[in-house]
Parts: sequence; C-alpha cells; structure tokens
Amino acid sequence: MIKNPIQWPDGAKCAVAITFDMDADSILHLDYPESSINKISALSMLRYGPEVAIPRILDTYKQLDIQQTFFVPAWCIENYPSAVKAMVDGGHEVAHHGYIHEYPGSNSREEEHYWLKYGIKAIENATGQRPKGWRAPYYDFSGNSADLLIEEGFLYDSSLMGDDIPYILKTDQGEVIEFPCHNGMDDWPQFANYTDFKYEMPIKAPSQGIEIFREEFDVMYKYGGLWVSVWHPFVTGRLANWDKIAELIEYMKSKGDVWFAKMEDIAAYVRQCIDDGSYTPRIDKLPYYRDKVFLTYKK
Ligand SMILES: [Zn+2]
Repeated sequence: MIKNPIQWPDGAKCAVAITFDMDADSILHLDYPESSINKISALSMLRYGPEVAIPRILDTYKQLDIQQTFFVPAWCIENYPSAVKAMVDGGHEVAHHGYIHEYPGSNSREEEHYWLKYGIKAIENATGQRPKGWRAPYYDFSGNSADLLIEEGFLYDSSLMGDDIPYILKTDQGEVIEFPCHNGMDDWPQFANYTDFKYEMPIKAPSQGIEIFREEFDVMYKYGGLWVSVWHPFVTGRLANWDKIAELIEYMKSKGDVWFAKMEDIAAYVRQCIDDGSYTPRIDKLPYYRDKVFLTYKK
C-alpha cells in the first residue's frame, strides 16, 4: 500500500505525532478586527484553550510519559506565556504557526518573511531555541512558503497533504521535509460549531467523533505510516473529548511498538535516514505550476 516505507526506529510499526495548534483567540481578532474584544462568549470559548485545556493536556502527556509538538502563533506566545512555559517545562516542542493566524497566501513575499522572522524571534525568546518546524495557519501554504522556510533553515513543514509518510519539498533554493496531514485528522470537521466563524458542523458525540482518528491510527499501524493529528485545545481539549482522547492514546500506547515523538525528533531521524541512504522519500518539486493553468488553456 505504501511504495517506499520508512523503517521507524527500534522496530516501531508507525510513528505518532499528536500535534496541537494553540490558536486561542488569534483567529477571532483576525476575522473581527473592529469588534473581537466585545465578543465575550467567543473569547471565553477560545481562551479555554490556553487557560484550561493546555494544563489538562500536559497532565495527560506527563502521566503517559510522552512529549509532543505544539504549533503556536507568535501573538499567542506573547499573550499566553504561562501556557507556553508549561509546554517548555514539560519538554514539549513549540513550533511556528504564524503571527496572528494570518493567511500567508494573502501576504506578499516580504510580509510573509517579516512575520516568519517575527515568530522565530518570539519562539527563541520563549523557549531559548530556534523553531525547527512550521505549520501554515489555515493550511494556507503560499507560493513563497517553501523558499522562506528553506532560507530560514527550517527542518520541516507540516501543512500539506501529499502523502502518508514524510516526503520532501524541493525548490530551486533547496529542500525541506514535509510531514503530511489531512482534513480527516483535523478536529474541526468533527466537533466545531462556531457561528462567528461560519463553521457549523453537527457536533458528534466524543466517542463517535474520535473513531476517525482511531481508524486512521489502525491503518498507519498496519502499513507503517505517520499519524499526525491537527487538533485545537479549545476543541479536543474540552472535558468529554479529552477524556475519550486519553483512552485513544492509551490504546495506541498499549500496542507497545509505536513511536510517539516530537516532530523535531522525527525530522532529525528522517533527515538521518535520507542522508545515510536507508530511506528514499518521494520528492514534490515546487512550484507545481509556473503559469496559471486555466488561462494557458484559454490562450
Ligand atoms: Zn491554527
């Protein structure tokens, strides 16, 4: 089923990266620059992430003895320092997720580069370490993103959906490892019903909504893939959801041969396997197209 499987370390059948995007209320200020501060109910729902869910999630990770990755917009790092400090104190990775969850594809190359550098500084200030990875806010990976990540020395990106295992994004400037995710691994389609964001999915019972994540895990375990969740503390960190997710993580752990790791550690391992020739990843050459496809057809 997978043409070029990677050998995971210590005979692990698959790798698991539980990634959370701690967006908090950045998305509300982005969508409602004039009125966000008066949207108290929405603010309370979003602030639940750093205030209530993050401590809960970190407690579970500590009990289960795993360390994972959090993608955090720089604005959230500046506004929720204790949540970020708790991540760092727990040995988890803080990775780059834009400034205020802006759409990179709406920015010029210069603007995107400015906010990328701004976020690097914010993460360095909060963690003492330069970020190794990036996830585009709203999966909005722009035509300039790959080159900018390469220029700033990022090891990996996790915004795209082009494979089931790590692969390489290659441009004229160099290359960066891609850890693919996909919409089925996001928690919004299962649980998000937010009128302010015009996103009104019918909310599933936790036991029903998490089934998709379990089935995704079972197939990654069967075929040796990389399981990447794209979860949000204010969604998956709510009490009933997280209670079920803790059971799911215990189920994954009970297999005994699953590699739970921070994405920066998975990236270092994949890089090493590529360099020593033990893994030949698929390569996506970017840009996919140099000219507007439909307009070419119309000529
Ligand atoms: Zn996000």
